[in-house]
This record gives sequence, structure tokens and C-alpha cells, in this order.
Amino acid sequence: MKIAIVGAGPVALWTASQIKIRTPDADITVHEKHPFYQRTHPLVISHGSLSGIPQDARIQEVVQGFLATKPHGIFWKSSTISTKKIEEDLEALAIKVGVKIRKNSLIEDCSKLDAQLVIGADGAHSHVREKIFEEIGSLRKQLNHVVEVKYFVKGEGRKLSLFQKSKTSSLVEEHVASPNDEGNTPITLRFFVTPAEYEALQDATFKNPYTLDQLPASLKKKVQKRLDLRAGKLGEIRIANSEKLTAIPLGTYSASSFVKTADKIYCLVGDAAFGVPFFRSLNNGFLCGTKLADRISKGLAHPEKMSSELWYYNLYVHLLSKWEIAIANIKSLFIKIAEWIIYFVTLPWEILSSLYNRPTAVLT
Ligand SMILES: Cc1cc2nc3c(=O)[nH]c(=O)nc-3n(C[C@H](O)[C@H](O)[C@H](O)COP(=O)(O)OP(=O)(O)OC[C@H]3O[C@@H](n4cnc5c(N)ncnc54)[C@H](O)[C@@H]3O)c2cc1C
Repeated sequence: MKIAIVGAGPVALWTASQIKIRTPDADITVHEKHPFYQRTHPLVISHGSLSGIPQDARIQEVVQGFLATKPHGIFWKSSTISTKKIEEDLEALAIKVGVKIRKNSLIEDCSKLDAQLVIGADGAHSHVREKIFEEIGSLRKQLNHVVEVKYFVKGEGRKLSLFQKSKTSSLVEEHVASPNDEGNTPITLRFFVTPAEYEALQDATFKNPYTLDQLPASLKKKVQKRLDLRAGKLGEIRIANSEKLTAIPLGTYSASSFVKTADKIYCLVGDAAFGVPFFRSLNNGFLCGTKLADRISKGLAHPEKMSSELWYYNLYVHLLSKWEIAIANIKSLFIKIAEWIIYFVTLPWEILSSLYNRPTAVLT
């Protein structure tokens, strides 16, 4: 059976490699519209999302490499890994196990692909979902809005401790990656903002990020205050003009089914299937990719059972997406409650601290 995968993101490569490892005879071609992967952000990967993979030295080695990266948080087993590392390691694995990868191959009509089974792993704006499942992403729900501030600092970066940030009135999520080759560390601060603040910044996109000076005055004050706090408490030295600001709506969406049999068999996986915020999407993509590879391989071994194997996959993604969307809703509610608590508890500190104005250290 010929298998075509649309998209060569991490979930496509992860799924393709596992099918090929489990079924070496499978003829798998991955089609990617770009010459190289476009995303660059750091990712939080929970170790549990990498479980269930085949006992094969090639994929085990890649996973061990992911697990050995910088731990994230103290409450659960997870690591912060750069998208670049994930993508490079998974692409090398896919090539090593014999998956064919076609770059600069934009698929405009997946029904014309020369394959009996097509997997849509083509991201949040999936062509396969739209064309075959006739959905742009149903069950869409907006939860929170964030403004993401990315910048580089000289040397090793650090997070503020709970005590150090206890006197500020904004809810901010901090991400500190590992230093790059020049010895500078990428820092990401996510400010939870009101829908009105988000509206004012809608043009600040990933492709067209804003600078600090383009922010509306009230938000600029909030961001500057956090940068000053980090400079004062951590001695952080920002690389001048490295700041990039984007507005991001945090929401959930899901297709209403994940497997469809028409002229061919079609499956959805990764962001093409469903999406949730709060660092879970790729984790879910890995979980679903492992499950899909396992079911497809069993179906390839016993073709008469392929449809029942994929029925189980469909059920699995249904249950996982419902669970993950419910958890995302609860997290969103907690964030809204936390915003109110922080605001009222820290208001007196805010008034006091406005009497002092620490300068921000910037390396020019
Ligand atoms: C700022 C940010 C931070 C994030 N942090 C986390 C995190 O910490 N943890 C987490 O779990 N998730 C996180 N995510 C989500 C994570 O990045 C995605 O879930 C993940 O990239 C999805 O992988 P994918 O392979 O399904 O899709 P994608 O990475 O979107 O890859 C899809 C690929 O398909 C290609 N493609 C699309 N259409 C076509 C076509 N018609 N023909 C050919 N190729 C096509 C695209 O070019 C792309 O390469 C974050 C996302 C963002 C934006």
C-alpha cells in the first residue's frame, strides 16, 4: 500500500518513521511545501508523550536525545526543546529508516496523490481537513489572549522566582531556552491581555512582529515594568532591538472526525486534527502519531482489519481531544481567576513601586 503524508512538520516525520520502522515494506512519501521547516520557537515536551514507540535503536536514540535536554518546571517530567532540534532529529530519523521526503511539494489537491492512504499532517490550517473532511476547524473556541514578547539576553538566562515577581500585577508566563551559538539566551514572556488589548494588536503577527515602541501606552508600561524587574532582580542584559512582539489568540479547535474512507483512506493527525493551547498541541500530536502508526501497521499486516484498526484510532483521538479541550477550559478559567487575584492582592505594591523607577539594562 502506498502512503502519502501531507506536511513534513514534527508530527508527520514522527508518524512516518514509526510506520516505516514497524512495517519496513511500507512505501511512504512525505510532501512538504517549504524547502525547510518554518517554526523556531522552543517547545515544552512532556516525557509521557514520547512513550509507546517501537523498541528500535534508531528512534530510541532520538527520544533519549529529547529527554536529555533542559528540564522544564519542577512538578512533572518535561523538557524544553528547540523546534529546530526536534525537526532536524526527526527528519534525519525519517531519512535513515527509509521514508521519502519531497520538499517544495505543495499539495493543492490531496485526492490526486498517488497513494491508497493519505495522512493529513499539514498543520492548523490543514488542506486535507478542509478538502476531504470539509471542515475549516469546527468546535472552535476562544479562551484567552496573549501578547508574546521574545528577546535575547547576554549569557545564560534565568526565570524570576515566585517571590521576586510577587509584587507585580500582571500574569506573565516566562520561558527561558538554552543559550544559542553566540552565547545569547532567547527569552519568551507571555502577557495575558484583555480581548480589547488584543484587538489593538492584531496586526502584530509572527510574520510581522511589533517592536516595543509600537505597543499602546498602557501595555507598553506593563511590558516595560516586567523587563525592568528582570533587569533589576536578575541583572539581565537585553540585546538591543532584539525584541519581537506578537499577539496570539489562545483557543481550541477540533475536526469532528479523524478518519474518512472515500476514493482513498484519509486520516488526520497533529495540528490538522485538533489543537489546544498551554503547551499541549505537539504533545498530543506525538501521542496521536504513535497511535496512528501502530494502527496502520497492524492494518498493513492484516488488510482486512485496516478499517477496524482506524476506527480505534478515530475513537482514541475523539477521547483525547475531548479530554484535552476540557483541561484547557479549566486552565483558562484558573488563569482568569489568577488575573483577578493578582490584580487585587498586588495593587498596593504597584502604587508603592511606582514611586521607584529602575532603569533597564540594554546591551548596545
Ligand atoms: C509560539 C508557539 C509555541 C508553542 N509551544 C508549544 C509547546 O511548548 N508544546 C507543545 O506541545 N506545542 C507547542 N506549540 C504547538 C506546536 O508548535 C504544534 O503543535 C506543532 O508544530 C504541530 O506540528 P504538526 O507537525 O502537526 O504541524 P506543523 O508544525 O504546522 O507542520 C505542518 C507542515 O505542513 C506543511 N504544509 C501545510 N500545508 C501543506 C500543503 N498543502 N502541502 C505541503 N505541505 C504543507 C507546512 O509547511 C508545515 O511544515 C507551540 C506553537 C507556537 C506557535
